[in-house]
Amino acid sequence: MIDTKSKDLFTKAKTLMPGGVNSPVRSFKSVGREPIFMKSAKGSHIYDVDGNSYIDYVCSWGPGILGHAYPKVIEKVKSACDDGLTFGTCIEKEIQLTELIKDAIPSMEMVRLVSSGTEATMSAIRLARGYTHRDKIIKFIGCYHGHSDGLLVKGGSGLLTNSTPDSAGVPKSYTENTLLANFNDEKSVIELFEKFGKDIACIIVEPVPANMGVVPPKKDFLKFLRDITKQYGALLIFDEVITGFRVDYHSAQEYFGVSSDITTLGKIVGGGMPVGAYGGSYEIMQCVSPLGAVYQAGTLSGNPIAMTSGIATLEILKQSQDIYKSIEEKTIQLENAYKKIKGVWINRVGSLMSIFFTDTPVTDYKSALTADTVKYAKYFNYMLEHGIYVAPSQFEAMFISNAHTDKDIKDTIQVIESFSKLEL
Ligand code: PLP
Repeated sequence: MIDTKSKDLFTKAKTLMPGGVNSPVRSFKSVGREPIFMKSAKGSHIYDVDGNSYIDYVCSWGPGILGHAYPKVIEKVKSACDDGLTFGTCIEKEIQLTELIKDAIPSMEMVRLVSSGTEATMSAIRLARGYTHRDKIIKFIGCYHGHSDGLLVKGGSGLLTNSTPDSAGVPKSYTENTLLANFNDEKSVIELFEKFGKDIACIIVEPVPANMGVVPPKKDFLKFLRDITKQYGALLIFDEVITGFRVDYHSAQEYFGVSSDITTLGKIVGGGMPVGAYGGSYEIMQCVSPLGAVYQAGTLSGNPIAMTSGIATLEILKQSQDIYKSIEEKTIQLENAYKKIKGVWINRVGSLMSIFFTDTPVTDYKSALTADTVKYAKYFNYMLEHGIYVAPSQFEAMFISNAHTDKDIKDTIQVIESFSKLEL
C-alpha cells in the first residue's frame, strides 16, 4: 500500500493543527500508524490521496447508513446550494425535518435542531436541570456524550463520590455534579439515587453504548432506568446520536420498547451534514428559550443545506425500512466470519457491532478494557493493507451501510478469514 502523499500531508498538517487532526481519533494513534488522507467516497468505498481504495466500515462514524454520496441526497443538496447556504432565519425545511423526526420517534413531541451531537447532549442536560431544578446528573462509565465540560468524565474516584474531569482544562467544579454508574449494573444506579435522589436531574445514557465498543444493554436494564428515574422524579435522556435511525428507523427506544423523556440525535439525522437534535414532551420543551428560561441558540442551526441532507436521508430510510433487516443480515455474515478468529468477543445489536480482542464477555467498561489493543492494532493494519477500513480504535463500533454489496461482504470475509489464520 502506497501512502507517500498521505505521509507528506500529515507532516504538513502537524505544523498547522494539533496532532495534525481536527478530531483525535482520526490520528490513528491507538493503532500505531499515521493517518491516511481521504479524497473521495462513493457507495461502500472510500478513496485516499495515494489512489488506494477501501471498503469502508467507518462510514464517517455512523452517518453514512445509505453509503457515500447517495445520488438522491447529493442531487437535492446541490440544488439547495443554489438557493443560498445559510439565512439565519426560519425556513420550511426545519419543519419538514422536525416532522420526520417526530414521526419516527414519537416521544420527541417537540424538537430543537442544533449542529452536532455534542450540542444536543449538552443542551439536553441543561434542559433536564432547568426542568427539574436539580443539579446532579448520572452518566455511565464508558459512555461518551460529546465533549462538553460536565460530560468529560468516565473514570473517577468511585461511584458514590464526586467525579474528576478526564480532560485538562475542565475545572473540578464543572464535573462535581456528574455522578458515575456502571452500565448494566442496577445496584450502582440504585446506590446513587439512594444517596442523592432529590438532587438528581437526569440519567443520560447511550441505550446501546458504542463508545467503549458496542455493549448491549442487559434485558430490562433500560426499563429499570425508566422506572427508577420516574420513581425519583428525574428525567431519562437517551443519547441516540449513534443508535438513532441506526438500530431501527424508530431508533433504540422502539427497538427496546422503552422511551425516554429527552432524546438526543446526531450523525444519521443530518445524512452527512452537521445536524444534531434534542427533543421531548411539549411540557419539557416549553422550558427551552424563547418559550422558557433554558437558553440555547445557534447561528447555523437548521441551515438549509444540512436540513436538505437530513430530510432526503430520512425520507429514503422511512420509505425503505427493509434496509435495516438487510444491513443487519450483512453484519451477521461478518459476525460469523469474525467468530473464526481465536480469542475474540463479539457484541452486536442490529447492524452495530464490535469485535473485542478478549475472551471475557464484554458487558461494561471494565470488561471492555480487558481487550488487547495491541492485537486490535494488528487487525486494523492487516485490514487496511488488504483494502478494508475499520475503526482505528478498539473501542468503537463498526458501521455498515446499505451500499455494501454482497461482493463487498464476500471480499471482507475472505480478508477476515485469512487474518484468522495468523498467529497473533
Ligand atoms: N453522543 C454520542 C453517543 C456520540 O457517539 C457522539 C459522537 O460520537 C456524541 C454524542 C457527540 O457527537 P458530535 O461528535 O457530533 O459532537
